[in-house]
Amino acid sequence: MAEKKKLLQILDLLRMLPRSNCKECGHATCMAFATYVLREGESPEKCPYWQPEDLAFVKKSLAEQGDDSAYPDHLFSARKFVQERVSKVDFTAVAPKIGAELTTCGNETCLVINLLERLYRVCKEEVEPVDQGEHDLWEHILLYNYVAEGGGRPLTGNWVPMESLPGSLAKRKAFVAGCESKIAAAYSGRPEALRRALAALKADFDVPENNADVAAIFYPLPRVPFQLLFWDADLDDDFPAQVKVLFDETVLDYLDIESLVFLGEKCAERLENFLPTDKE
Ligand code: SF4
Repeated sequence: MAEKKKLLQILDLLRMLPRSNCKECGHATCMAFATYVLREGESPEKCPYWQPEDLAFVKKSLAEQGDDSAYPDHLFSARKFVQERVSKVDFTAVAPKIGAELTTCGNETCLVINLLERLYRVCKEEVEPVDQGEHDLWEHILLYNYVAEGGGRPLTGNWVPMESLPGSLAKRKAFVAGCESKIAAAYSGRPEALRRALAALKADFDVPENNADVAAIFYPLPRVPFQLLFWDADLDDDFPAQVKVLFDETVLDYLDIESLVFLGEKCAERLENFLPTDKE
C-alpha cells in the first residue's frame, strides 16, 4: 500500500515563522498568515522572515499538495461563519458576561479567555494562546462560539445532566464517548491521580450530596462549570469505572450543544495528559 503523504499543516508553518506578529505580511498574527497561506493561496513570500531553506520547503510542499488541506473545508467554513458573528459583538459589553478580560492588540480591543487553565487572546481576526504555543482551529471555533453566544442568565448552581438539555439527544452519545468514557477508562483504578489532575485544573472538591469516589467542580470556560463525578471500578462486582458530568442549568446560554461536546472532548484530552506513566 502506498504511504500516505503527510500534508503541511498550519502549525508546521507556524513553527518555521518567527511568531513575532509584526504584521508586515498584512496579517495581525503569524497564525493568521499561516492560515491564509494554506487555505487562501496567499503567497508565503509575503513574510520576509523565513529561513531560505524553510521557504523553499514550504513552496515545494504547497505545490505538491495542491488543494489538499490538513483541515476539512467545513471546518474553515465553520470558523468563517462564527468569526462573522463575532465581528458584530461588542467586546467591551460582552467581557463581563462571559468572564473574559479586556486587552488591546494595537488599536483593537480584544478578549482574554481562560480555556482549561490556558489563556487565549481572542481578536476579531484571530485567536491564539497568550503563551503562543500550539493551538488548533477547533479551539478557535469553540472560543468564537463562546463569545458569539454572548452569555445569558447568571449561573444558578442547579446541576443537570446533558440528556435534560434541549436538543441534546443526538449529541449525548458523542459526549459519553469523547468525554465521560475516556476519563473513566483513563483513571480506572487511579482515583488519587484523577484528584491531582483535577486539582491542576483548579477544581473545587467540596461537592455536596454525592456518593462518587471523586467529585469535583471545575471551569473549562469561565461561565461553563463542569461537575465531574467518578466511580471507580469494582472488580469484584465486574463494575467498570464510570464518569458522569453535570452542567449548570444555564449552560446553553453560554455554548451550543456541539461546542459543549467538543469542550468535553478537550477536557478528557487535558485530563489524559496528566496521567502518570506508572500505575499507582
Ligand atoms: S510578516 Fe512574517 S513574522 Fe511578521 S506577522 Fe507576518 S508572518 Fe509573522
